[in-house]
Amino acid sequence: MSETQSRKRILTGDRPTGKLHLGHYVGSLKNRLALQDQYDCFFIVADLHTLTTKPTRAEITQLARNIYDVVLDYLAVGIDPEKSTIFLQSAVPTEYELNLILEMMVTLPRLTRLPSIKDMARAAHIDEDAIPFGLIGYPVLQAADILLPRAHLVPVGKDNLAHVEITREMARRFNRLYGEVFPIPEAMIGDVTLVGIDGQAKMSKSLNNAIFLSDDAKTVEKKVMRMYTDPNRIRADIPGRVEGNPVFIYHDAFNPDVDEVNDLKERYRKGKVGDVEVKRKLARAINAFLEPIRERRAYYESRPGLVEEILIEGTRRMRKEGEATMALVYEAMGLPGYALRRALEEDRPFQLLRG
Ligand code: ATP
Ligand code: MG
Repeated sequence: MSETQSRKRILTGDRPTGKLHLGHYVGSLKNRLALQDQYDCFFIVADLHTLTTKPTRAEITQLARNIYDVVLDYLAVGIDPEKSTIFLQSAVPTEYELNLILEMMVTLPRLTRLPSIKDMARAAHIDEDAIPFGLIGYPVLQAADILLPRAHLVPVGKDNLAHVEITREMARRFNRLYGEVFPIPEAMIGDVTLVGIDGQAKMSKSLNNAIFLSDDAKTVEKKVMRMYTDPNRIRADIPGRVEGNPVFIYHDAFNPDVDEVNDLKERYRKGKVGDVEVKRKLARAINAFLEPIRERRAYYESRPGLVEEILIEGTRRMRKEGEATMALVYEAMGLPGYALRRALEEDRPFQLLRG
């Protein structure tokens, strides 16, 4: 426990909107695996954030499946529940509480000026004048995610940097008004974006160009065989472009056999290798990479209730941390309602005015 407390804390996570793919691995999961030994990591499954753009009953019904899939993907890639805390945002009441307090620490223009809000609205086909208050408040809830475990570090993509900056401003404002409660969190930029199998700049599940961590070997093979390569290379004996070619970007990312990759690149440049060979070898490399992930997935899937148990334990820990933080917050603020709340919980007398 004392060892855990002395380690710096990390908060990061995902919205449960579907299965995770190789882009998530390269962009964030790989980094998280490396961090979990040095830091006390909190991984949030941010289901409340999905309500900002997906509020319908049908979309909410889908959440249970998506939450399960994300937690299972975490465990399958090797997030270790003995070392790290995986928790479900909506099951932590103090998330909602801190969100409200932080709403007082930021101005509306500061939020509405963020391009990310309009980007999210556009992506969800929401007209500008139909943007819900909750979507404008997205960065506030994200600040609550970060500040609730009093995280020091926040690994994020470039697109989320502005939200960490706002979080820092809110934490500073709170500390200035009431005293030092929050560490000022630092963003940790991991900015590797994996291209899609169709050659589009970003692998993304809604673009239908993803290889999922849960894809079986046959599916991976099929997807790799229809991958986008150099469009000018209509025959195997035409010299091809290696730079920016998705097939080689993937080879570099997932094929540990550097000699094989260099040999393929050299022959590709000279027009001495067919796409089929390059792709067969890539499919084999990706499948070899996914094999241990599949084994861990099978382990967790074959033990009914285990995924839930891990989520329950992580959420239990986050709830405790959240209550400890909110006690500091309310006490720093001197909020009378908190004293009443404690009195009620502990069945003690309560006095508004002393003496
Ligand atoms: P959707 O299509 O629903 O937007 P997605 O597949 O793009 O889903 P997100 O849930 O938007 O995935 O991704 C969450 C985070 O995962 C991103 O902010 C980014 O950090 C990381 N990520 C997603 N796709 C990639 C990718 N292709 N390369 C690197 N990182 C990625
Ligand atoms: Mg996306």
